[in-house]
Amino acid sequence: MGNGKTPVSAVVAIDGPSGSGKSTVARKVAERFGLGYLDTGAMYRAATWWVMQKNITLTDRDAVSAAVRKMPLTVQTDPRRQNVICGDTDITDVIRTSGLSKVVSQVATNPDVRKELIRRQREIIARECEPGGFSGGKGIVAEGRDITTVVAPDADVRILLTASREARLARRAREVRGSDSAQALAATRDEVLRRDRDDSAVSEFMTAQEGVTEIDSSNLTLEQTVDAVAALVGGPRGE
Ligand code: C5P
Repeated sequence: MGNGKTPVSAVVAIDGPSGSGKSTVARKVAERFGLGYLDTGAMYRAATWWVMQKNITLTDRDAVSAAVRKMPLTVQTDPRRQNVICGDTDITDVIRTSGLSKVVSQVATNPDVRKELIRRQREIIARECEPGGFSGGKGIVAEGRDITTVVAPDADVRILLTASREARLARRAREVRGSDSAQALAATRDEVLRRDRDDSAVSEFMTAQEGVTEIDSSNLTLEQTVDAVAALVGGPRGE
């Protein structure tokens, strides 16, 4: 990140399927380098919560996108405290429920919703590269499904974080159900495999595109994965 003389801002883009560990890794890399953090999945989850609150049918493309354009959403970019606020309501926890995970792809595959959220994501990324942002202009780690390809294809560092189906299922089952028993794995299949299939219809996050570095975390610990990403950002300790 820079030559030590001129402060420059860095944009780090990380994509990956569900259960690849990208949120945790992105957050830790942001903390290590003093960068902001943007979880774009949280924005699609917030949009889903918002239209459900309004009793809009999720498949009604025009009504859904019109509502999303008016959504009063704030996402914090501090990697230690990224609350998601809609209007006066803190929806940080409610957007993580399994019920919402089951339907979020319906909203995220609406092209007009994507257009609006991509616009807002680019604004947040640009703001973090200015002195007024959380990072004081140092930059941001943004993660999702289409950051390396659509939202910020000119990012300084572009990474696709992958993991085997088995590793992804087990991670998500432990995260959401506290166990990777056969029962927990079965209950998690829809949330991981079906959701990735649906989401793949609109974004390419299973195969690294040109200029994107793939990191397979199947056999890496969290710490090793963070180190692998950090090495691409600016050396093992960010020097
Ligand atoms: O990453 P997370 O599981 O929170 O993402 C929730 C959903 O948001 C995904 O299943 C996908 O439908 C959508 N998403 C997207 N593009 C992104 C990030 C998330 O379509 N960049």
